[in-house]
Amino acid sequence: MNKYLQNLLKVPKAVTSETNNRRDFLQKASLGGLALGGIPLGGFIDKPIEETLEYSTQKVNKFSNPSDLKITDLRVVEIVNAPMPCPVIRIDTNQGIYGLGEVRDHASPKYALFLKSRILGENPCNVDRIFKKIKQFGGHSRQAGGVCGVEMALWDLAGKAYNVPAYQLVGGKFRDRVRLYCDTTGSDDPVEYAKRMKARVDQGFTFLKMDFGIQMLKDEDNMVINKGMYDIGQQWSREYGSYGSTAHPFTRIQITDEGIEKIVDYVRQVRDIVGYEIPLAADHFGHFDTNEAIRLGNALEPYRLAYLEDLVPWQYTDKWKQITHAINTPTLTGEDIFLKEEFIKLIDARAIDMIHPDLASSGGILETKKIGDYAEENGIPMMMHFAGTPVSMMANVHCAAATQNFIALEHHSVDIPWWEDLVVGIDKPIVQDGHITVPDRPGLGIELNEDVVKEHMKKGTKYFAPTDEWNTIDSADRLWS
Ligand SMILES: [Mg+2]
Repeated sequence: MNKYLQNLLKVPKAVTSETNNRRDFLQKASLGGLALGGIPLGGFIDKPIEETLEYSTQKVNKFSNPSDLKITDLRVVEIVNAPMPCPVIRIDTNQGIYGLGEVRDHASPKYALFLKSRILGENPCNVDRIFKKIKQFGGHSRQAGGVCGVEMALWDLAGKAYNVPAYQLVGGKFRDRVRLYCDTTGSDDPVEYAKRMKARVDQGFTFLKMDFGIQMLKDEDNMVINKGMYDIGQQWSREYGSYGSTAHPFTRIQITDEGIEKIVDYVRQVRDIVGYEIPLAADHFGHFDTNEAIRLGNALEPYRLAYLEDLVPWQYTDKWKQITHAINTPTLTGEDIFLKEEFIKLIDARAIDMIHPDLASSGGILETKKIGDYAEENGIPMMMHFAGTPVSMMANVHCAAATQNFIALEHHSVDIPWWEDLVVGIDKPIVQDGHITVPDRPGLGIELNEDVVKEHMKKGTKYFAPTDEWNTIDSADRLWS
């Protein structure tokens, strides 16, 4: 290959060195009597080809030199009320480009900060290498938040380094628009709730999810057995031994026929208002065991719900299998599972009809695609759970675009007016007619809107404050001897 072609194919210099080179060039040019700024550059005739190319391409976006890219920092900004707390991370590099990721909602940013010492100096384009290095520090549910947030940020960086959208790096896309389903704030009044759901349909959403369960029976007599032991209105209480912290099989709560009838009547009224043509899923039924789940599932059969979610915790493969085989409404779980192995168990056992990974818990973009692909090979579709800012949402969008058996992605923040304003660099509104158009910009395709982010930060925290205390590894990481 001749030198001219070699130079044309040479990977562009990094932003920082580009600036220096340009300065060098300008100095040399002025020493040589060249006039710049619109005057023909006849003086280039006697210049080396490198300098000519350097000058003629100086306005081209040169991104970075991927093979020399190195991670230099990891910092956090904590966004709150989105409507949940969401730590967004930024991974910086030696070439001025950075990647954005997000720790799962309600998880500690420390899950990501702990990983900083493990990723400093790594080339962020080696996403799978870094993922395999750090995945031992993730666990189920929120404990996966750090690993997954870093993984998202790495794809953002790799995409920016190679100037391609993240979906392209994991195999390309199956769709140009990603369908959303939206959760809706609950109400004990079915007519009020149905009106809220109908408003979603009028906004253009094509897939709905509702929350209902024994919590609506908390003030009723003779509908819930063993209610005296627990406050069944507190499904999210974190105190050890409370209702919220006691797994379904261990509450021994049962629902009477009257209780089931009241729940069923609620769903009937909602269905009557939203109609029978839109998929309507359901979640958060309360903490009761397999038999009650089957009785409730059978009673709800006439309303053809899209799926019943998390009837029992995901860990109970045999219980799920029993429920799935006993009812005719599809079953679904998975929002708290970390890594593909536990999904594989559920899929191999034919324990559920659909999977529901949360990309910020399941292992990030590539691992979630692997989970989706395994499900697809077994004839199982993938819904995606999500609650967070547009940063994590876009990671989900790229994964959903690149995974064939994807059905719909959750949107939890429809009622937050500033939610879309948190980011720039993407066409607005981000959500249109219940869908998000997959962006073609490099990486995740968004940048933070600093002013808006600063308006919604956790009190007492700083915008991407230094995190030097997390720089040093102080433990041996090997898992075997
Ligand atoms: Mg759920």
